[in-house]
Amino acid sequence: APNTAFLNVNNIEVIYNHVILVLKGVSFSVPEGRIVALLGGNGAGKTTTLRAVSNLLHGERGEVTKGSVELKGERVEALTPGDLVRRGVVQVMEGRHCFGHLTIEENLLTGAYTRTDGKAAVQETLDKVYDFFPRLKTRRTSQAAYTSGGEQQMCAIGRALMAKPKLVLLDEPSMGLAPQIVEEVFSIVKQLNEKEGTTFLLAEQNTSIALRYADFGYILENGRVVMEGAAADLRDNEDVKEFYLGLS
Ligand code: ATP
Repeated sequence: APNTAFLNVNNIEVIYNHVILVLKGVSFSVPEGRIVALLGGNGAGKTTTLRAVSNLLHGERGEVTKGSVELKGERVEALTPGDLVRRGVVQVMEGRHCFGHLTIEENLLTGAYTRTDGKAAVQETLDKVYDFFPRLKTRRTSQAAYTSGGEQQMCAIGRALMAKPKLVLLDEPSMGLAPQIVEEVFSIVKQLNEKEGTTFLLAEQNTSIALRYADFGYILENGRVVMEGAAADLRDNEDVKEFYLGLS
């Protein structure tokens, strides 16, 4: 059913370096086929939340000390990031992280590393990525380091798509991009969601754009969810307008 939660995060607590309590009981759910936004300012805990979901905290000396993460009802905290990719959960990290010395196409192909369905199938996905991101097609033989910030962000998302994910975790896709490019990136995310049924969980400081494209939003402050709801309701909420949209 289209509305079953794909991901459930239940009351998680995250501690860095054994002492720094950063998430103080965060809960939210991501229904299949929807776009969910985690909002809030710098340091609110958005990145930490995404890392907790894809089990990327260990490298940062962080750990989930309470609560649970469930994919379709099954607990996944013990899985490696690679296991999660094989189950359809792929993260696009903040700051884009393309391999600068590789071409755009080589970068995209690295995203297919967990696939075992053969070259032709991978090529088919590559063609699809180029359909969604025509800019990447024109830049396919360019070294990533010499492409624009927007193209690198698109490359990072495209690379995630090469794994044929069900859920993409997008950390701050707007970061460092001009407004027009941010709009372009978000509108492609929306098309991927609508045409491919890909589910997205995105962390964004840019509340205004995120609430225009997302279905649901959760606002984090200091490691806690302080507000949640349908994106349209949050957009109309007076507190959200005053504190996060700057439109009061
Ligand atoms: P940003 O927009 O900066 O990514 P955020 O909402 O994603 O903000 P986090 O990056 O999750 O916030 O950080 C939440 C808190 O955890 C901050 O106070 C940050 O300083 C702290 N923190 C993040 N990573 C670590 C780490 N590896 N060790 C210790 N503290 C950390």
